[in-house]
Amino acid sequence: YKFIKQASPVVGELIEKEYNRQKDNIELIASENYCSEAVLAACGSCLSWKYAEGYPYVRTSGNTSRYYGGTKYVDELEEYCCTKWKEVFDTDYHVNVQPHSGSQANFAAYKAILKPGDTILSLSLDNGGHLTHGSSVNFSGKLYDMVFYDVDERGYIDMEDVRKKAHECKPQLILTGASAYSRIIDFAAFAEIAKEVGAYFMVDMAHIAGLVAGNEHPSPFGYADIVTTTTHKTLRGPRGGLIFGRTELAKKIDSAVFPYAQGGPLEHIIAGKAICAEEALRPEYKEYAHQVVVNCKAFCDEFIKLGYKVVTGGTDNHVFLLDLTEFPFSGKDLQDRLDDAGITLNKNCVPNETRSPKETSGVRIGTAPMTTRGYKEEDFREVAHKVDAVIKEMLK
Ligand code: PLP
Repeated sequence: YKFIKQASPVVGELIEKEYNRQKDNIELIASENYCSEAVLAACGSCLSWKYAEGYPYVRTSGNTSRYYGGTKYVDELEEYCCTKWKEVFDTDYHVNVQPHSGSQANFAAYKAILKPGDTILSLSLDNGGHLTHGSSVNFSGKLYDMVFYDVDERGYIDMEDVRKKAHECKPQLILTGASAYSRIIDFAAFAEIAKEVGAYFMVDMAHIAGLVAGNEHPSPFGYADIVTTTTHKTLRGPRGGLIFGRTELAKKIDSAVFPYAQGGPLEHIIAGKAICAEEALRPEYKEYAHQVVVNCKAFCDEFIKLGYKVVTGGTDNHVFLLDLTEFPFSGKDLQDRLDDAGITLNKNCVPNETRSPKETSGVRIGTAPMTTRGYKEEDFREVAHKVDAVIKEMLK
């Protein structure tokens, strides 16, 4: 950071402090990860200087549809990035690699297939859905008519509730995917219900995409009409988004991203996404994805052994939720105390939440970042005991 510090002592020092925080703390935030140095370097490269509104794909005329000159190399790069992501998920779906974030991917995906006022059936937010899945303070809740399905008394997505509500509200779109859900999602069952009611089916696999790429979670391809993801969570790439869609939706998806939702693509991030895809195709990536899941089970089991209640009673993926409903302190209180102890996680609502979203009765725990840093099952068991010690202190 010497170079940045010379240019700006304030910014350089803050980046250095944040780097040290990330390196020294035990990072358990389920939506975070550490991408490779190569991805970081690509994201800080000269591609940041280039404008390339439009798309590289050769359309009817044989020309690209860029609005700028000088795009020869970024055209090649963006097409390469698309090819690699199709390989990662072994799919012939169209892919758009330009969304700046997961939220923008969802914004464009909805636009591609819906009109304002159309109905979306999605997972309720206090049961694990994301802000862009219909929160009243988000564009999704404001532009579309939202109906939510719930989890059952064990905390599993209630497929009977999905079917019942789909038949009642006849949505134009059925959406699944979550920010805080620890079990396998049955994409085939969702697709069947969408077919019954003539709805589009979309999967936001932002959280589990790295596990799908590593064959640790069933794939939504073949079932969903549209699949969106972020690239920075379990996938372990740069901060950004991707949209995949059945080929007949390609033009609608592209025009929903540019010119509807965004201007110039971030070609430096697209370079990072391409490197991330290459990494995801290597055998070591499968080992990483497997270890994320194995670690998560071991970590979660240790909490259960220590007497804690876990939503759904366990985990199949990279995340689980500790249920603190019966504790005299909130998820926020535990988050703060763990922060002081060098353990980073975040508060999260639990099913049938009784506290406010600012306080919550749960914390969300993920294993992807520390798995990237080399943690194995025994390391996570030790962390469970550290968290337990902090909680015991809070109960004194
Ligand atoms: N979708 C899901 C399921 C998420 O969990 C998130 C982020 O947490 C997003 C979308 C949005 O991603 P971003 O923060 O890049 O907008």
